[in-house]
Amino acid sequence: MNAKFENLFYATSYLDRRSEFRLETNKVHALQKVEESVFLPQHQLRSLFYQHDDGAMARFWSYEQAAPFMEDGLVIYLGHEASEGRHYFALDVSAYDENHAGNVSGDDDFWEDLRRAGPLSQRTLASHLAYARGLFYWHQRHRFCGSCGSPTHVAQAGHMRQCSNGACGELQFPRTDPAVIMLIHDGERCLLAHHARLKEGMYSTLAGFVEPGETLEQAVRREVMEEAGIEVGEVTYAGSQPWPFPSSLMLGFYGRAQSEKITIAEDELTDAQWFSRKDLNGFKEAGRFLPSADSIARNLIEYWLKAE
Ligand SMILES: [Zn+2]
Repeated sequence: MNAKFENLFYATSYLDRRSEFRLETNKVHALQKVEESVFLPQHQLRSLFYQHDDGAMARFWSYEQAAPFMEDGLVIYLGHEASEGRHYFALDVSAYDENHAGNVSGDDDFWEDLRRAGPLSQRTLASHLAYARGLFYWHQRHRFCGSCGSPTHVAQAGHMRQCSNGACGELQFPRTDPAVIMLIHDGERCLLAHHARLKEGMYSTLAGFVEPGETLEQAVRREVMEEAGIEVGEVTYAGSQPWPFPSSLMLGFYGRAQSEKITIAEDELTDAQWFSRKDLNGFKEAGRFLPSADSIARNLIEYWLKAE
């Protein structure tokens, strides 16, 4: 399998992040006020949307609309979109009343978690929102220094936090947790599992977090052995997807099975089976379904289905 996924959902933010601005506070402040700058508001990790014929559309604000929320709000510079000529900022308005903030640009605007609204929304904006959601989540959980416990403050246009204790001064940068997700197959059949926390009837690929001291390939083989008791030989990379729910980067692989007998980890899975392409095409009739179209899991399965 030599798939190369490059346009997965949440992965089409082509912002030039312009990291050189992050060190120049005055420039970033001046940039906020130019006409080309827009602000994507979030409240408690939910983004602002409005209903559009094509689905949920992300709302963005002008500087005038955003400015009243900046005193107690966190502003992050996301980057420059060359084709639109726009500078994108994200603005956390969690310190303000959600109804007040939610009505700034329209009575019918609504706050919704990207995890729910994302698949229905416009892809590029959803990718910007994913970027912002990942950063705001990190800020929420790093308000204190991990070394000395003192409060930290925001720096570098929202891309860093620094410990306020002068004797410590530790710098903290946003974290992303690598997770492997893999479709294991033997050429004719693929291995899908029903996870205890998934909806009844949904079968998906196996996945798990990479541990310290482990390569991606080792993580693939370990997780598949732990969860399904299957030995995996060749492992090939297929693509990656930002998955800020809350802070993962999904790294997608295909793995060639070297054994057949499935032994499931009963604390995680309720079932795992080998499915042929014919089985998958008849999934609906069998009362089963695959993960949603925005997921890398679905892309791994669909690509395999079409490959002969
Ligand atoms: Zn400290």
